[in-house]
Amino acid sequence: MERKNAWAAYSRAELDRVEAFARAYCDFIDHGKTERECVQTAERAARANGYEDIRRLVAKGARVSAGDRVYCNWMNKSFMMFIAGRRPLSEGMNILGAHIDSPRIDVKQNPLYEEEQIAYLDTHYYGGIKKYQWVAMPLALHGVIARKDGSVVTVAIGEDEGDPVFCISDLLPHLAQEQMTKDAKSVIEGEALNLIIGSKPAAEEEKDAVKAAILGILKEKYGVEEEDFLSAELEIVPAGKARDMGLDRSMILAYGHDDRVCAYPSMQALIDFEGTPEYTLCCILTDKEEIGSVGATGMDSHFFENVVAELYSCMEDYSELGLRRALANSRMLSSDVSAAFDPNFASAFEKKNAAYLGRGVCFNKYTGSRGKSGSSDANAEYIACIRRILDDAGVAFQTAELGRVDLGGGGTIAYMCAKYGMNVIDSGVAVLSMHAPYEVISKADLYEAYKCYLAFLRDAAPVG
Ligand code: MN
Ligand code: MN
Repeated sequence: MERKNAWAAYSRAELDRVEAFARAYCDFIDHGKTERECVQTAERAARANGYEDIRRLVAKGARVSAGDRVYCNWMNKSFMMFIAGRRPLSEGMNILGAHIDSPRIDVKQNPLYEEEQIAYLDTHYYGGIKKYQWVAMPLALHGVIARKDGSVVTVAIGEDEGDPVFCISDLLPHLAQEQMTKDAKSVIEGEALNLIIGSKPAAEEEKDAVKAAILGILKEKYGVEEEDFLSAELEIVPAGKARDMGLDRSMILAYGHDDRVCAYPSMQALIDFEGTPEYTLCCILTDKEEIGSVGATGMDSHFFENVVAELYSCMEDYSELGLRRALANSRMLSSDVSAAFDPNFASAFEKKNAAYLGRGVCFNKYTGSRGKSGSSDANAEYIACIRRILDDAGVAFQTAELGRVDLGGGGTIAYMCAKYGMNVIDSGVAVLSMHAPYEVISKADLYEAYKCYLAFLRDAAPVG
């Protein structure tokens, strides 16, 4: 049951569409290096395409009718979009979900210090990273600093050509005999991820003169004091833009494919959907997946259910039972990246049930670890419906497990949505070097994911 490579089937016109979609995606991730930046872009795109803020509609007491488009920005970190369908909401929605947070290094609350006339920011990594991969490379600083007066300063340093960048140093090989005998987990320790941000002392200071100079720059450029770090969210990410990869330009090398490579086509499928759908359509872009979907902006929060309740009350006479039915009768593609088979590490995979670059959008019936522990195992009947939709729409797809049995595992947001009783399956794009500072995807897989999402929005219906 080998799946075909998607590239072989493309016409000249389709190749152009693959490339155009890849360009638009690169623009999205170049401007979306944090969950907040992704939400900003999504909100701008939604508004430009006729979506209205559901909170404003609720405040006005306005109704939502079939064909109307609404969105909800949740704390600037998660985002939801809906297109109201012709049928009652209680018949369920067609939902696309993906996450917009990515593994990275966060700045601590009391971060700034000086050591031997070098100024540093102390950090705490976020998500599952191989710490040794993040040293000796150009890094950028993104985020917000919230001041006591309620104002918020936005920070993005290291992306523009003329910007400075930052770096975490590594030990030279000449002196690394001891370091090189350590295992990969401890070769760079979490507390060694200290970001260098300056080395020029302020003339008038004697003690911690470099730190004083850095504080002077922060005051002058951003109007912030050292104490403002207490209420800041600053994220350290690889500096620079997404790049075409390979002589044939078939791949994209970039930071944060996990999971913006699923979030972008999900969002774009809702934006590009034309007309009034049969069932209400929804796209959820959520935060905190990389640390377990916890917190007020993670999928485990009730924010999604609450917003659907608001939507319900704008569309029909609100009823608790109706809301429960709307959620239970829904169909969802929970999209997250899958591990692409890597010939350099072949033994980590089982070849018949692995995802391959270029073979289309990937479906994981289950994820989890060991004996499927923690997995949301999609129903066979639901998978059959999805197969029919994709084959009818000519979408290239493949199925996979995350690596070989008993080697490791992982989870996504699927099981949290499955709590409502809805049909949900993990789908997404295969990635090489997942969670590394630069990850690799195939442009064909990105395009097939987009085609898949459009077909799903149009054709998914109650199962059975
Ligand atoms: Mn992910
Ligand atoms: Mn991940």
